[in-house]
Amino acid sequence: MLEKPRVLIVEDEATLATGIAEALRFQGYECDVAEDGAAGLKAARRGSYDVMLLDIMLPELSGFEVMETLRGEGSKIPTIMLTAKGAEDDRVHGLKIGADDYVTKPFAIRELVARVGAQVRRARMDRGDGDTFELDGAIFDLGRLQITRGEEEIPLTPREGEILSYLRAHEGNVVTRDEFLLQVWKYPTARVETRTVDNTLAALRKKIERNPADPQIIKTVRGKGYRWGG
Ligand code: CA
Repeated sequence: MLEKPRVLIVEDEATLATGIAEALRFQGYECDVAEDGAAGLKAARRGSYDVMLLDIMLPELSGFEVMETLRGEGSKIPTIMLTAKGAEDDRVHGLKIGADDYVTKPFAIRELVARVGAQVRRARMDRGDGDTFELDGAIFDLGRLQITRGEEEIPLTPREGEILSYLRAHEGNVVTRDEFLLQVWKYPTARVETRTVDNTLAALRKKIERNPADPQIIKTVRGKGYRWGG
């Protein structure tokens, strides 16, 4: 299975932190939340995060202090700062001291998820995770969560990457919706509707299939589930 990208959320507003974590987990990320600057710094130092979301106004240490300390120690952790509306100086200062990107509060969760994905792809660009193959005229790079078809680069969510990886690893078998929920979503089937699987796969086909009405990569097995068509 693919290695799940890990996100550290440093945010003291519990409701916001939980909302972000839930949205990212649904897309296949692993998330940890730190509720103040000191806890965030400690967690970031332990390492192995692909992205850090860093609020500025935090108890104990501010987001700026956390960023400056980490960069001073040579940490390259990709960081997106969460800045307040209208605080232009904060955005400029954040980028100056080493943040990679910023998102202005209040933000649409979809936008935040997209920005996190962009940081993960950028960070994995040079790592050469290796799970690359060609199929139906497109190059699949699941480690980098990206498909290239001609000039077009199509970003994948970690969840979409996992689905492709799982189907491919079970080539020749039919994967049922329940199996997807258990093995890929890791959700007990009762908690999530199997419709979630269909919706996610329909969206994925639109991204990756040359003709989503006649899919070649993800085949439907009527009444049963899906199978790898490569
Ligand atoms: Ca705050």
